Amino acid sequence: MMNVPLRISTMMEHAERYFPKKEIVSRTSSGITRLTYKELAARTRRLTSSLVKLGVQKGDKVGTFAWNHHRHLESYFAIPGMGGVLHTINIRLAPNHISYIINHAEDKVLLIDEDLLPLIESIKDELNTVEAFIIMTDKHELPPTALQPVYHYEELLAQGDPSYPFLQDIDENDPAGMCYTSATTGNPKGVVYTHRSTVLHCMALGLADSAAISESDVLLPVVPMFHVNAWGLPYASVWFGTKLVLPGPMFTPKILLELIQEERVTFTAGVPTIWLGVLMELESGSYDTSSLRGVVCGGSAAPKSMIAAFAQKYNIPFLHAYGMTETSPLVALARLKSHELDLDQEAKLDIYAKQGYFVPCVEVKAIGKSGEIKWDGEEIGELLMRGPWIASEYYRDERTADAFRDGWLYTGDVVTIDEEGRIKIVDRVKDVIKSGGEWISSVDLENALMAHDAVFEAAVVAVPHPQWQERPIACVVLKESMQVDKEELYEFLKPQFAKWWLPDDILFLQEIPKTSVGKFLKQALREKVKETLET
Ligand code: ADP
Repeated sequence: MMNVPLRISTMMEHAERYFPKKEIVSRTSSGITRLTYKELAARTRRLTSSLVKLGVQKGDKVGTFAWNHHRHLESYFAIPGMGGVLHTINIRLAPNHISYIINHAEDKVLLIDEDLLPLIESIKDELNTVEAFIIMTDKHELPPTALQPVYHYEELLAQGDPSYPFLQDIDENDPAGMCYTSATTGNPKGVVYTHRSTVLHCMALGLADSAAISESDVLLPVVPMFHVNAWGLPYASVWFGTKLVLPGPMFTPKILLELIQEERVTFTAGVPTIWLGVLMELESGSYDTSSLRGVVCGGSAAPKSMIAAFAQKYNIPFLHAYGMTETSPLVALARLKSHELDLDQEAKLDIYAKQGYFVPCVEVKAIGKSGEIKWDGEEIGELLMRGPWIASEYYRDERTADAFRDGWLYTGDVVTIDEEGRIKIVDRVKDVIKSGGEWISSVDLENALMAHDAVFEAAVVAVPHPQWQERPIACVVLKESMQVDKEELYEFLKPQFAKWWLPDDILFLQEIPKTSVGKFLKQALREKVKETLET
């Protein structure tokens, strides 16, 4: 067989040839822009030529600091298209982490959204490698800025070459992109994606039993393009000729629902906190969501009550998915198998609430207290993975030695695996509560609490205990204008758990501290709980 290298630019070439009239809808700060794949490809080529003119060379890192919009999408193809490495920077990281990752990646050029400029300006003196800043804006004039040298994105495009060829001399194993995990402790860790890993991962997004993304879809990636390539969805959409709807900056649940209604979105993806907000908006407003064939939810566990509300109340199919920055990210989805289609609603919900079984090419096993666990849905162990779009190391980071051993990624996720090969994430290794030699899943308690009508969010953490080593404490945020007391919540939990699983206390908080991508920040919460209990 021919050994043809897998290259990201071939995806754009495919869209240009086969779907030139297909539309992309892009929301920016000044409104909605509509462009076709033909126009997108020409603009991408213009950007490629401009980057070359600016002195960017093969292997150089180019950072992006931007929301989900068409310019960011152009950079997704233009940077790897000239052999550069697209480094998407998470805009929600702490400023010291942002400067750390820009320096650590050695970004040569930064593409920045105008409204995010102040963040980069505030750390400009710490940046050691950046030689040029490109501002992405709808305005004709550059905003006043202390950054130097600075270029206007649209002016660069105007001077660029709309037929500039993408670089052919690229090995499929060359780096194409990088993303840093949002660290909860220590500095963020970098993962480098290759052309090959990106293309193969996209292929998996198109599989019928995976996300099944196709030309006939209208796809709204709510998950940010600044984190794990928006789960690969922008690449897959362009390749498959899917109409893309990009939600832009500072969107609200209302804006998302209006986009879904007006653009007849069929498929969308985001983290549970986004869908919780959308659910509340659905309850207060009236929207036509009949076009939706799937809402993908991943990044942290989707509470069963939320899946049920979407599916049963609004008839919106919910697709729970699992992955990590280190895994590109998609590796597993909670789809029903054909022999499960006749199960009753409750049994189906149990399946949807697990993280699913793995897509082809991804191998897994889990290691428990006494070696590899049985696939019986009971035994628990740490999940290990390997496959063509799973990282083999962290970028220039000695923490590689902990996470990558004997050709496997040690995920840090504690799971059960059932007879069907479905995983259920019981906890993070570092968050599981070790009580008297047994493990209590913080995630199970959280999901149970969040199923109570008055509870908006719940997070459970361990506190040290003289006799039991650790004990769970629950932190609960109530829905606006809802009331419930501790006793009622205990009564609610009791039938569902063994006595020793019940939290030692339930604290009512205004909010749960979260990471930059909306996950519970358990470390900060543990400290908060400690302080509260001491006072
Ligand atoms: P970070 O937030 O640290 O950057 P990632 O975005 O890579 O990390 O998150 C990966 C982790 O998120 C996984 O290891 C797992 O713990 C958690 N996760 C992802 N998807 C799910 C899911 N569907 N259910 C529960 N946990 C999930």
